[in-house]
Amino acid sequence: MNYDIDDKVAVVTGGSSGIGLATVELLLGEGARVAFCGRDRERLASAESELRAAYPAADLLALPCDVLDPAAVANFAAEVTGRFGRVDMLVNNAGQGRVSTFADTADDAWRQELELKFFGVIHPTRAFLPHLERAAPASVVCVNSLLALQPEPHMVATSAARAGLLNLVRSMAVEFAPKGIRVNSILLGMVESGQWRRRYRDQAAEGQSWEDWSANLARDKHIPLGRLGRPREPAHAIVFLASPLASYTTGSHIDISGGLARHV
Ligand code: NDP
Repeated sequence: MNYDIDDKVAVVTGGSSGIGLATVELLLGEGARVAFCGRDRERLASAESELRAAYPAADLLALPCDVLDPAAVANFAAEVTGRFGRVDMLVNNAGQGRVSTFADTADDAWRQELELKFFGVIHPTRAFLPHLERAAPASVVCVNSLLALQPEPHMVATSAARAGLLNLVRSMAVEFAPKGIRVNSILLGMVESGQWRRRYRDQAAEGQSWEDWSANLARDKHIPLGRLGRPREPAHAIVFLASPLASYTTGSHIDISGGLARHV
């Protein structure tokens, strides 16, 4: 695949696991220079050494940063631009979902979820915007969920916050278009990742394999393609939207849900 991003600089938040890690890998494989962040230093270091083993010549920067801490994000942006001198693509991926119904979601949980879904995008976008503008044509891709269009009552706060993010992407796309920056998102169904591995550890029956547990999940959720997605699958959509191949696409989204979307 040639995404025409050789030597471009990409930033991926939450690049130490799951979809973010697969995106960093794909970007490196396509010749991009990549910076990524996460909070947990051990997870960050293990992702970095895995990537360096696979891509020994890679120009790669892995730094601890909580996207909810604006000072840490500003520092991350300064380190990235100090190292690479420019930023062409920002992937806002960091985060996780919250499983709770309206009845069992307290105010604090609502606030935390709204903060994560909004400020997890607002802080990095604000910090990298001047650099993206200088590098234009440039791009932002936000990792969102199908819940934005198809809410689930057992993930009430995540669904509502995801709908807000979809709306925000549209506004940013219009505001940033004159600066030469495109803004798009992907809407995920269920994709194998650290999040799902943690749910498997908590919920699986004694001795039940991941393969058996995840196949049951796909069946219970009636996923038409009959399985969970693999991290590389959304990564391809992210890199496509970030790349010059999507040069006439902004304010848009790609569905990566294995057919789970029921709306027309
Ligand atoms: P993972 O748990 O595998 O990866 C999440 C990544 O984000 C990790 O690198 C994690 O590192 C990082 N992260 C989480 N919170 C923060 C934070 N505050 N600051 C910086 N980094 C952070 O999960 P996924 O790959 O599944 O998740 C990626 C994105 O996709 C998330 O936004 C998630 O909500 C979304 N999504 C995923 C779906 C799925 O089925 N997998 C479905 C719908 C949406 P650390 O914890 O060390 O900070």
